[in-house]
Amino acid sequence: MNVYLVQVVDAYGPNKFLPLAIGYQWCYADTTNYTLKDVLIEKIPPEEYVATMEDPYMVAMSSYIWNWEYNKKLAKLIKERFPKTIIITGGPQISKHDPNLFDRAPMFDAFIHGEGEEAFRSILAGEDWNTIPNVQTPTKMPRPAQRRKDISAIPSPILEGFYEPIMAKYPKDTLWQVTWESLRGCPYHCAFCDIGDSYWNKLTLFDMERVKAEIDWMGRNRIEYVSVCDSNWGLLERDIDITQYVIDTKKKYGYPMWWDATWAKNNVDRNFDIAMMNKAGGVNIFKGVTFAMQSFNDATLKASERFNINEIQVQEYLNRYKQEHIPTYSELIWPMPDETYFSLKRGIQKLIDLGQDSFLMIHPLVITDNATMGNKQYQEKYGIEVKTVPLDTYYLSADDLQNYIVEYTDAVYSTNTATWDDVLRGHMFSWVSILMYYYGWGHYLAKYMRKQGVKEIDFFESMLSWIEKSKNTLLHKEYKETQQHIYNTFHNKQFWGRKVRGDTDIYWEYKGASSIVLHDNKDILQNELTWFLQDVYELEDAYDIVKLNLAMTRDKDTQYPIVVENKSHIAHDMLDINSSVILIDHHDGTTVDEMWYNKAYHWDRKSRYWRCTASAGDKYYVVKGESNGSEITRS
Ligand code: SF4
Repeated sequence: MNVYLVQVVDAYGPNKFLPLAIGYQWCYADTTNYTLKDVLIEKIPPEEYVATMEDPYMVAMSSYIWNWEYNKKLAKLIKERFPKTIIITGGPQISKHDPNLFDRAPMFDAFIHGEGEEAFRSILAGEDWNTIPNVQTPTKMPRPAQRRKDISAIPSPILEGFYEPIMAKYPKDTLWQVTWESLRGCPYHCAFCDIGDSYWNKLTLFDMERVKAEIDWMGRNRIEYVSVCDSNWGLLERDIDITQYVIDTKKKYGYPMWWDATWAKNNVDRNFDIAMMNKAGGVNIFKGVTFAMQSFNDATLKASERFNINEIQVQEYLNRYKQEHIPTYSELIWPMPDETYFSLKRGIQKLIDLGQDSFLMIHPLVITDNATMGNKQYQEKYGIEVKTVPLDTYYLSADDLQNYIVEYTDAVYSTNTATWDDVLRGHMFSWVSILMYYYGWGHYLAKYMRKQGVKEIDFFESMLSWIEKSKNTLLHKEYKETQQHIYNTFHNKQFWGRKVRGDTDIYWEYKGASSIVLHDNKDILQNELTWFLQDVYELEDAYDIVKLNLAMTRDKDTQYPIVVENKSHIAHDMLDINSSVILIDHHDGTTVDEMWYNKAYHWDRKSRYWRCTASAGDKYYVVKGESNGSEITRS
């Protein structure tokens, strides 16, 4: 009897994903009487895939928000062509509370709630579905699923050889991304998160021998990217040993290249030790360390059952990371329950005050069925109104989106404490503050103004107001484009993101899109920021202040190092340098190619690619005043 397994994701760049969940199901079940015909990992057009299928007895799909619409379409077409095929699905997408799920997805024969291995094994063993505890059928809503207490009996798809036939179908030089976990569960209860449900509250662990054997396999098989599903990397002491093992494996084989983990929220000491091990190892496996705060508003933290580390610790560790030149980035979510436009801004200010100079992301709040926030009573209590919007389409290309089956999610449109106008304004404040501070275009202007007693959020608020009323400016055009895109996403289900480099471009996240436009129009930006500083703050030195800020942003076509001249009091207030001659350099000496914008404003944005270094350039003088690299001369 032929079985097909389906766990698909969007194509992001050249990497192909090796599926974990569906691998567990197959490896745990007794499959003696079945033939695994294929494992589908890419979103190829469903019609094409169905045409390749041979007498499918069963199709099992792993479902989450990024493949639910695709899975439904594929299942529908399979049912049309092969009406007797059994199609089952499980995964985080399957609501544990919806007895009417078959009305919305009638193409499936059964839904599996929670961890699926036991249920899938029972189904393949031919047991009566009505007796299998966490299986929902058209006639049976199961009782709440129970977690398994021990996961050690679940075989490893890696060690069972489940991935080899999948990899064999692709060219030898394919870049592989593996989804991996050393444990399941999370001790926290964040109301916006599926894993915050009490079902996931206990940790279950795979043993170290298995973990190490899997990492060895990743090294030997040249795995490019490891998406670690553990919810809190650094929560357990053994994460130190695992990290060391990954570093040693990369030293030995050159792989796995990247270890993308979600860092523990409350274990800052251990996180720091891990980051230092990575630094000492000399084979960088992390792209940075996260300080995911989500909100600084007490009422919001209470409403979302979120417990952050205290601010003194955040400050201490942000400083320690800075001293060690280890990039960190922070996350906030907007609009959370009980959050206001004002409290969002206060949170951004708090992060800046605590020393978050590297990177900040502010995610729109989306609601999933299995999270506490998916509960209707919760939504009523906090006045949460949602709109169905496309799932994040950032960084997909026009090619990827041809014949694309759009995935959807519910994004928060308004709450008791934030009207839609507030919500949109909050998104636009995020745009201006992150674009300026964390993509660099106004980073040192803000630092300069802070020395004059103007707080960063007040500075960005006045900039936002100035941009709104300065209708003939490039900044206004960028503002309007971004605002219109966000509006259209919420009201017309338009894709997230903007193309800025022609029809075949990727859909850039908005700050990245604006950064490309500003980079390519620096002279205009110089003038507009100067006008702004003159108009609003009546700064005499506005031109020079802007000039020095822009000189600190990495330019694609400049050969570094360069020497610039400016007024020494400006250099002091902006860069803490007591000199009117400043040597500006950048760490990336590689040749600029077609992908430079991707590197600067996508892949390496979290590690502050934009930022040049500056030092007193007293031993140099500038031949032509405004210099580039060729004009530097030693005095
Ligand atoms: S957001 Fe992170 S810490 Fe909070 S419940 Fe989810 S996985 Fe756990």
